[in-house]
Amino acid sequence: MLTKGMKYLADIHKSDEFRDKSKAIIEKAEKCEWCGSTTKLVVHHKTSMKRSIRLWTLSLWVSTGHEYNSVRHTKEEKEIFKAFCDEHHGEILESAKKSYLAFNDVIVLCNRYHYAIHKGLKKCPTCDGYMTENRKQCSKCVPSPYSRYLESIEDMEDEDDGYMDEDATE
Ligand SMILES: [Zn+2]
Ligand SMILES: [Zn+2]
Ligand SMILES: [Zn+2]
Repeated sequence: MLTKGMKYLADIHKSDEFRDKSKAIIEKAEKCEWCGSTTKLVVHHKTSMKRSIRLWTLSLWVSTGHEYNSVRHTKEEKEIFKAFCDEHHGEILESAKKSYLAFNDVIVLCNRYHYAIHKGLKKCPTCDGYMTENRKQCSKCVPSPYSRYLESIEDMEDEDDGYMDEDATE
């Protein structure tokens, strides 16, 4: 199912419809949403083809009277679900393709950050680096224990201002 979907995606990307719509969206956005770059822009689908196929499969599964929860239960239920996917794959792929080509859930990014988003990363808010979803800053921007130590010594020196001034005349 998945491999079929991925091959299908390559064909979609080669289609005139995909190229024209991508071009129009990039022209309208003008720049990368993460860094403001105006070159090497691409349209990224937040809902991937893989996810879209999954959503359409489950939606068809439920709308044809099946229990949502019965997808992964017994061995027999799994076989029924697999047969269902095989039987309806043409229809499911068509629906997924339509959603994909509607460009509803997309973001315009430069090449560099498009690569990052596919690795599950996002842009660091303080520099150009990447970081994982759950971080607030990238590893370069988070102060190291050593730099925190230096800062704390500077704070101590500030407090001892009187002593330091005498020696400073040397
Ligand atoms: Zn960018
Ligand atoms: Zn993408
Ligand atoms: Zn950073």
